[in-house]
Amino acid sequence: MAVTMTRKTEQSRRLQQRAEGMIPGGVNSPVRAFGSVAGDPLFIIRGKGSHIWDADENEYIDYVGSWGPLILGHADSGVLDAILGAACNGTSFGASTPSEADLAELVLSAFPHMQKVRFVNSGTEATMSAIRLARAYTKRKYIIKFEGCYHGHADCLLVKAGSGVATLGIPGSAGVPEEFTQFTLALPFNNLSAVEHAFHKFKHQIACVIVEPVVGNMGCVPAADDYLVGLRLITERERAVLIFDEVMTGFRVAFGGAQELYNIKPDLTTMGKIIGGGLPVGAYGGPADIMDLVAPLGPMYQAGTLSGNPLAMAAGCAMLKQLRDRRAEIYPKIDRLSGELVEGVAAAAKDAGAKLTSNRVGSMFTWFFTPDPVTNWESASKSDTEAFGRFFRGMLDQGIYLPPSQYEAAFLGAVHTREDVQKTIAAAKEAFAAVGR
Ligand SMILES: *Cc1c(COP(=O)(O)O)cnc(C)c1O
Repeated sequence: MAVTMTRKTEQSRRLQQRAEGMIPGGVNSPVRAFGSVAGDPLFIIRGKGSHIWDADENEYIDYVGSWGPLILGHADSGVLDAILGAACNGTSFGASTPSEADLAELVLSAFPHMQKVRFVNSGTEATMSAIRLARAYTKRKYIIKFEGCYHGHADCLLVKAGSGVATLGIPGSAGVPEEFTQFTLALPFNNLSAVEHAFHKFKHQIACVIVEPVVGNMGCVPAADDYLVGLRLITERERAVLIFDEVMTGFRVAFGGAQELYNIKPDLTTMGKIIGGGLPVGAYGGPADIMDLVAPLGPMYQAGTLSGNPLAMAAGCAMLKQLRDRRAEIYPKIDRLSGELVEGVAAAAKDAGAKLTSNRVGSMFTWFFTPDPVTNWESASKSDTEAFGRFFRGMLDQGIYLPPSQYEAAFLGAVHTREDVQKTIAAAKEAFAAVGR
């Protein structure tokens, strides 16, 4: 094949074998294990800007960006300075520090529908807490989520979840008693009548609807026109809480997330990824009358030893300040470059006779190996994941690092260059030639 396999892998393989003896699968998050694309997972030694280097000194253009957070690229000097500055004063106090309100101010300025925000340590904690809060507020039990949407690994949300669960081809998770998911209704995405039906069937019993306003966790799948508006109208009418899970889309598809992009006001918003500047942070927020139910003001309990950690807050502040100050430059640029990349690769596929459907919203995108439109989990799951795996390996061998799963969105950041994009399109031409054979 045209893709010559010169990439060294000995060191990554050795490190993987060592880790496998001690850590399940050698990884601390399943999709890192390359299970669905075959081959050896990379051990990353360092990153700078849009590039990363593995333990065998291979260099890659990175379109994973730590699964979304690194919109300013690796080792951004502003973010690094903030972390180092904070670390010199101590890493954690378990008491309030000024930087928590600094980050809160930045988040609230970008999300004007939110009046208060609580910081946690991950997106999982953010959605888990938001669901608990929605139940506390409505005094109802049922929740609606959508097939292929991933909201972290809380028990009640591991039902037809996307991301690694979809990648591994499992419906939920062992260890979650069915009683724990009996109040979770998993409905098809982009289908309002399914939502109407559920609200009719469980009248006055549904606490909330949680949705990824642009799905990233079954690959990138945008909401159809009027779908999010429809969810807003139905939840308003039924007095249920609408939760936008913007862990991925917040500060990604626009500075103010998908709610700014589509001009829709959810009740609660969950965040993570970008707001931590590459450190572990999550957040949930909304109007004061709901958020004031959270302890210590209210009866809904939620806490965290390391929540609001000063290093994480400093990293988040440095990240969000840059995004705020450079928003007029950054968001149009990453949208334009992502468009060039996605269309360039799609054109290469067409020339090679590979059947591909491209989905993109701003700098989130996926090439699905299926000829048909991908609008929900049912259509996404028709993708030829074997062909994706061959494409993935072909790209990797040419120094292009894509998410190691058909069902994960790729990301482009402010540091990617036109040269990166041209190189990637050229690599795709080679990779498609190999896929076809
Ligand atoms: C990544 C993600 C989560 C989970 O966040 P973690 O920090 O991995 O726990 C939740 N929701 C969405 C939409 C995500 O993309």
